[in-house]
Parts: sequence; structure tokens; C-alpha cells
Amino acid sequence: MKHYKIATHLFLSAPFLASALLFSSCSKNEDLTSVSQNIEAPSRFDELSALFDDANTLETPKIVDCKLSGGTETQCFSITTGPAPANHKTGPYCPRTISDTAEQAGTWFVNEKLYDVDGKFIEQLGVIYNDNEWQMFDAATGKVTLAEGQLGCDVAGDPNSAPDYKNYCVECEVKYLDPNAGQTFVFPLEPVLTTGNPSRIGPHTGIGLAFNGVKLDAPAPLDLILGSHTLGLFDACVGHVNPTTGYHYHGLVGCEPNKTAGAANHSPLVAVAMDGFDIYAKLDDGEAGSLDECGGHVVGGLGYHYHVEAAGTNQFIGCFKAESGCTLDNSSATCDASVQERRGPRGRGPEGAGPGGPRPDGPRPDGPRPD
Ligand SMILES: [Zn+2]
Ligand SMILES: [Zn+2]
Repeated sequence: MKHYKIATHLFLSAPFLASALLFSSCSKNEDLTSVSQNIEAPSRFDELSALFDDANTLETPKIVDCKLSGGTETQCFSITTGPAPANHKTGPYCPRTISDTAEQAGTWFVNEKLYDVDGKFIEQLGVIYNDNEWQMFDAATGKVTLAEGQLGCDVAGDPNSAPDYKNYCVECEVKYLDPNAGQTFVFPLEPVLTTGNPSRIGPHTGIGLAFNGVKLDAPAPLDLILGSHTLGLFDACVGHVNPTTGYHYHGLVGCEPNKTAGAANHSPLVAVAMDGFDIYAKLDDGEAGSLDECGGHVVGGLGYHYHVEAAGTNQFIGCFKAESGCTLDNSSATCDASVQERRGPRGRGPEGAGPGGPRPDGPRPDGPRPD
């Protein structure tokens, strides 16, 4: 209806006759609003590049050829981010003594809730987990037993050392990592739905990427961690560090940048999943019933997208609706997700790795880091 009004107005004035003819010829075929949207709508690549504008990127994002987990060959967005977030500080993780306050320590998951760790938490571990093998402090001095500094990163990065650090609170800080050592996240520009069942989430690929460039990692294998009596606590942002992945999240509590949703009364856009679908912040408890087994739904104007679960659940989303891409340790490697994630036996340690097992956050099928 709108373009008829424009045409009528223009016909009233002779000098605008030429323009009026242009408008009216175009309005015969297409609605003006759709024409202007076609011209102005950014490509998915431009859209993603803008969303990651404030990320700690080591290389400019690019479009690459990729092979997704289901074998589909397509084009992917490729972004390489450094080991530390650009928009917030990281740590603290382990308390130093059993009298430290919650402000001096980080967080952990206990019974699917986010637990604010303090010194008392370390003192009470045996009671909390009903397991008297926990003794992570010196009973005489109250000092917490730590693997910190470079040693902490070595332990976090070497699954074979985990048994030697039973009852250690292990922490790796980003300042001990090479600031130029990043990970490359490769996910499809347009999601390709899986045929049949949703695809499982690989431990190395992870879930997705927050707009500050921080990886949303696969669930931490809590049973194995607790069995090994070696803690790798999170900070207040529910992130922690290992040398392979750098700083990464195991929950979202608002430290990640928020983007506008594009729909009224909707939680903000916070990340992109490794299958190319968008990830939004957690829904209110009453609304979460509308989500499917993967944690996604369709809302008018937004298309299919996921919502993360509460931070204590150790899970962002349940599965991928579409074929996933790759997380690479080497930015020049090619993404072939159809062969990634061949999984070795799970071991023990701060993040579930152990003797003969995979790296702390899973196997590294794409080989060692070049440096
Ligand atoms: Zn982790
Ligand atoms: Zn939604």
C-alpha cells in the first residue's frame, strides 16, 4: 500500500515524472520494502564479522571451504581468537587458605548449581562430596594445596601428570600462555540440518563461540574430575584456562558481550554455535519448556536458535540440530569435521584427562600446536 501513495504524490509534479515511472515499474513486480531489504541486508559473513568486532582476534575473519560433521562440503566462517578475553579480567580460581572469602576465589558446580567457592569449600570437600579422600589443605596451617603458576598450566595441559596431583587445586592463568597461541573456530555460514538424529557434541569442537572470542566448551566430565580428587575451579565468569584452549567458559553468567535480539521480549544474542545457529541467553524458567532436546526453538523473526541452560548445569545446549564445523589448533589447517572427534578413552584429571587418555578438554586430532 505504501508505494501507491508515493507514486500518487510523484505523479502530481511533472519534474518527478521520470522517477515516478521508475517507482511504478518496480512496484509492478516487487514490494518496495523487499527491494530495499535485498539491497541493505548484510551477508552472513558481514553480520558475523560485526558481531565478533570486539573479540580478541589474532587473524581477520575469513570465508573458507569446509567439510561439516555430516560430510557436507560448504563455506564456513573462520575466526582465530587469542587465549584471553578482551572484555573482562579472568580469575581468581583457587582460594589460598581455608579462611579465604568468596571474593578471593572462584566458582564450581555442585549438584547442578553454581557454587561460590571460598576457603570453607576446600575445608568441607569431604562433607560436600561424602568422600573422605578429599584433603586439599594443610591441616596445621590451613593453606590450600596448589598447583599454580607455570606448574599449574603444565599440570592442566599434561594429563599424564594428573595422578601426581591428587588433592591439588590446579589453576592455570592466561598470563603464562603465549598471547599469540590461539584456536581457530570454523562453522558454517548457513546451517545444514542433520539428516536423522541431531549430532552429538564433540569434546574438542565444543559448543560455540561468545562474541568476545571465548569458547563455550563441551561439558566438563565432572564424575571423572571428582574421582581423581583434582579440582580445576572456574572464576566468577565460570571460565578457566588450559594451555590448549586458553580461557574458556563452562557456563554463561553475563560476562560475555550481549547483542540485541532482533525480536521483542527476547533474551539477548550471546554466541554462535559450531553448527552455525545463533545462541541466545538463558530463557526464564517458565519459558524453557518450549525448547527442544537440543535447547532450541523457532521464534518469529529469529528463525531456529538455541538458548543456553543455567550456569550450574555443566551444559550450554544438549545437541546440534545441524552439522557442526571444527575447532582447530592450527589456523592454516583445513576443517574436515567428518573425521574429527575420534575419541580415545577418557582418563582422569582436572578436566577428565588421564594416563594414556586425551588432552584435558578432549583429544587433539589435528595434531600438536606448531610452536
Ligand atoms: Zn574447561
Ligand atoms: Zn528464543
